[in-house]
Amino acid sequence: MGLRLFNTLSRSVENFVPRDPRGTKVDLYCCGPTVHNFAHIGNFRTFVFADLLRRYLEFKGYEVRHVMNITDVEDKIIKGVSASGAGLTDYTRRYEAAFLEDFRALGGLLPHHMPRATEHIREIIGLIENLLGQELAYRASDGSVYFSIEKYRAAGHRYGQLLNLNFDAMRVGERVSADEYDKESVADFALWKARVADDGAVSWPSPWGEGRPGWHIECSAMSMKWLGTSFDLHLGGEDLIFPHHEDEIAQSEGAGLQAPGERFVKYWLHAAHLQVDGKKMSKSLGNFYTLRDLLAKRFTGREIRSLLLTAHYRAPFNFTLENLAGARTALGRLDECFAKLREIAGETKAAPNEKVLAEFTAAMDDDLNVSAAWGGIFDWVRELNRSLEAAKVTAAEASAALATWQRIDQVFGVGQKPDAEAPPEISALLEKRQAARKAKDFKLADAIRAQLKTAGWIIEDTPKGPRLKRP
Ligand code: AMP
Ligand code: ZN
Repeated sequence: MGLRLFNTLSRSVENFVPRDPRGTKVDLYCCGPTVHNFAHIGNFRTFVFADLLRRYLEFKGYEVRHVMNITDVEDKIIKGVSASGAGLTDYTRRYEAAFLEDFRALGGLLPHHMPRATEHIREIIGLIENLLGQELAYRASDGSVYFSIEKYRAAGHRYGQLLNLNFDAMRVGERVSADEYDKESVADFALWKARVADDGAVSWPSPWGEGRPGWHIECSAMSMKWLGTSFDLHLGGEDLIFPHHEDEIAQSEGAGLQAPGERFVKYWLHAAHLQVDGKKMSKSLGNFYTLRDLLAKRFTGREIRSLLLTAHYRAPFNFTLENLAGARTALGRLDECFAKLREIAGETKAAPNEKVLAEFTAAMDDDLNVSAAWGGIFDWVRELNRSLEAAKVTAAEASAALATWQRIDQVFGVGQKPDAEAPPEISALLEKRQAARKAKDFKLADAIRAQLKTAGWIIEDTPKGPRLKRP
């Protein structure tokens, strides 16, 4: 059985079949961060989910093109810019850099393209012109441009594909100018917002006068520019289902750029929110932790990543410092087991354990069932520990187990416990051992290895020479 994923479009788990006729290339877009502040770990739950899916697709042999935009102009940013007195670019680049640093600390693979909205104003204007040309958009008296839901529906399109909407409650032609609104306020939404005094210097010229793009059109323009007018996967947090993603479909399919019978996006995937005390972790509720807050509490990026990867992406997940401490303990168990195996394996090379990999694949194929995947891994580690205790693990078995974990970790990306810095007297012992080996005094070399081990250090022989590690 191949990969199956829950598609918000059909509200069901579907077989994943890439659009690529050869079945090898996969295009993935994930709505990126709004760079108006430090991202909180709720935001990172969504980005780690996108990273997990990308890594799993690569594990399965697909060639993935991963695009994540940077939203560097929208309502919240304008507010932040005018409050800070900084220029738009100075303001957003600082948070963009912080975001990327945090994402790397969480073991995220950088997307292949990270387009910024402010660098796609031309494409955005082109798309709005298309929609105006088709009379699916109209100019308001202040110079703003709105998308007409009534005209879009009259042209035979369906508005409300990702969720059901009650059009009886909607007053035709009513407008919403804010980037974020709820489904009770479904209304014509802004594609281009005419400049107002509060925008300060943040505006661009357009055929409709000075102004700035709406948030939704940014993602339509950037995703279609970088991945084409139809692509496989579009991801985001569940709060983006409406209006952001619904509006993206309306704009992108309204523009009619897709080949006949093709959709804008084949699979829409949404991550459930990270919660605190049963409520969505969010800036506005003030119940959030940034990654920096947690690093300051001496947690590591890999511990936080592994916690975020314990829950299924569609399950709500309550964040507590206690469950983060639990993730640390669980990771410690893995680290300990693999460190022992590395010692036994030495230079021996072996192929991975196909049975363990097959179990992992079966779990992950099932809509990325990480709980089942971790369950299998911990059972396996328990068995390995039992064999280790009974001193029954051969170098070949240890090496096979390590090769297996290496494959699995291509997906989970929690990596190895980083090397601790060895104090000078310990490094001196390592040098002494090297000299002994060179002089073929293996007895002395072994004695030094044992001495190091008693001091809490193990020697790992790598192709680049020996390294000291904490077990
Ligand atoms: P933003 O920077 O506000 O545009 O959000 C970036 C991403 O984080 C979006 O995909 C949001 O849906 C997602 N997001 C926001 N809050 C949470 C949360 N508490 N848990 C999971 N994802 C979230
Ligand atoms: Zn988006």
